[in-house]
Amino acid sequence: MKVLVPVKRVIDANVKIRVKADQTGVETANVKMAMNPFCEIAVEEAVRMKEAGTASEVVIVSAGAAQAQETIRTGLAMGADRGVLIQSEAALEPLAVAKLLKAVVEKEGADLVLMGKQAIDGDNNQTGQMLAALLGWPQGTFISKLEKNDSGIKVTREVDGGLEILDLKMPAVLTVDLRLNEPRYASLPNIMKAKKKTIDTFSPEDLGVDVSPRLETIKVVAPPPRKAGVMVDSVAALVDKLRNEAKVI
Ligand code: AMP
Repeated sequence: MKVLVPVKRVIDANVKIRVKADQTGVETANVKMAMNPFCEIAVEEAVRMKEAGTASEVVIVSAGAAQAQETIRTGLAMGADRGVLIQSEAALEPLAVAKLLKAVVEKEGADLVLMGKQAIDGDNNQTGQMLAALLGWPQGTFISKLEKNDSGIKVTREVDGGLEILDLKMPAVLTVDLRLNEPRYASLPNIMKAKKKTIDTFSPEDLGVDVSPRLETIKVVAPPPRKAGVMVDSVAALVDKLRNEAKVI
């Protein structure tokens, strides 16, 4: 089974985000970038499937600027086999990414796509669902457990009311949630080994995909600063504040 893992390069989750002075977006110059945390979980799961013998090959794919290669290398250092970079300097919207990924899925003949449930920059939570629709494949989103069986794949989804268990036919698209696993740190020898692994590069044109934007960002603004909280010393004081100051009960 060939597993494809799409990963996105985003601003590191520990960085404090700053909105650009001209309100066209957030500052990315000289800002630490990293693999989107949900994508790391997807890579970890794919590598575990390879180690367990359920996956034969794990291919990491990222669409973005040339530096996305570093993000692919992180996945290769975690244990993936090969990488594919779809190089584009354009701001890629989820539909464009889904179309690019569809082209790579078809080119590679992948049996399973394991991806993040959302990217922490745009918080879109759209790409996996769009990819499944474009491919006409079953989808399991927000998964916290996955078991491969003879007829397909059984997944546990985290939904508002609790957990939902689905049996999916393969090939399928899965988007992963936080509790699926805890991603490993790449060891130094594996980081060195990853430098030798292959990354093939394509442009959106090579894949026959038009990535021109369909959305226009009008303005990006920072949320208003939050006021400092107060500690109350008893439940009675809390109830009093909620009733008489906040007037919410
Ligand atoms: P989003 O729909 O933007 O919240 O992203 C959901 C998931 O789609 C991410 O966790 C990635 O697995 C994948 N994805 C989004 N953008 C890209 C990209 N530029 N390159 C590769 N994968 C991506």
